[in-house]
Amino acid sequence: MNIVITGANRGLGYELTLAAAQRGHKVIAGIRSSQPGGKLLELIDLFPGQIGAVQLDVCNEETIARLAERLLAERQTVDAVINNAGILLGRGVAIEEMPMEDIVGSFEINLFGPMMVIKHLLPLMTDGALRAVLNISSEAGSLTHAYGGDYPYAISKTAINMLSKQLKEYVKERGIRVYAIHPGWIKTDMGGEKAPGDPAESARSIIDILEMKTEIDPECFFINVKGEPMPI
Ligand code: NDP
Repeated sequence: MNIVITGANRGLGYELTLAAAQRGHKVIAGIRSSQPGGKLLELIDLFPGQIGAVQLDVCNEETIARLAERLLAERQTVDAVINNAGILLGRGVAIEEMPMEDIVGSFEINLFGPMMVIKHLLPLMTDGALRAVLNISSEAGSLTHAYGGDYPYAISKTAINMLSKQLKEYVKERGIRVYAIHPGWIKTDMGGEKAPGDPAESARSIIDILEMKTEIDPECFFINVKGEPMPI
């Protein structure tokens, strides 16, 4: 499979890149900056010919379009897109104190970015039995579990759930699966040291979903890494 993963430099995105490469897939590892970090460089060396790092700033449509143009020119198709890049701005900030840039920044990275990635890469998802768009969401986006905080983050994740449902309906005739996935509370820079979950384990489960090894109710679009429905 040819898999595009955004935010592959660290955290869950890095672990997804590792897990996908270990299963023999090819990964286009999207990174915000022009140069991959040391950890990702080591991974590229470890799996020669399987991982290619490409600058993909989800807030910069040109970088996304450039990737799509390159793949088209190389006659490459895309089997799966994992919209993983995300940001948690304004953690714990009361709405009375909320800076506009936290709201705009959260929506740019967590929602508008994935929409632009889908805009440019969906036309390349023409072949393959395991095609899927996986949008990494969060339990924080659940209306049922709203907790009165982290407004920009939580609301942008609610919106990516809606994007996932909309897209699921749009591409259902093409045989492309679409899910919004809560990866669990995992130990990354975002999740923090106290997080109980292992991002490597989450990543392996997400690749299982990609490989259709997980049983999922066909009606579900917001799920956890075990494929179980999340409360909308
Ligand atoms: P991290 O903060 O550890 O990593 C975030 C990644 O996103 C980094 O690789 C970062 O790149 C990248 N990124 C940020 N902005 C951009 C951008 N504009 N363009 C491209 N890449 C960008 O977060 P996690 O790995 O924990 O989070 C991954 C996903 O999982 C997110 O969508 C998050 O919301 C979700 N999630 C995480 C949970 C957790 O407990 N950790 C819980 C629920 C959901 P760079 O290195 O350049 O900064």
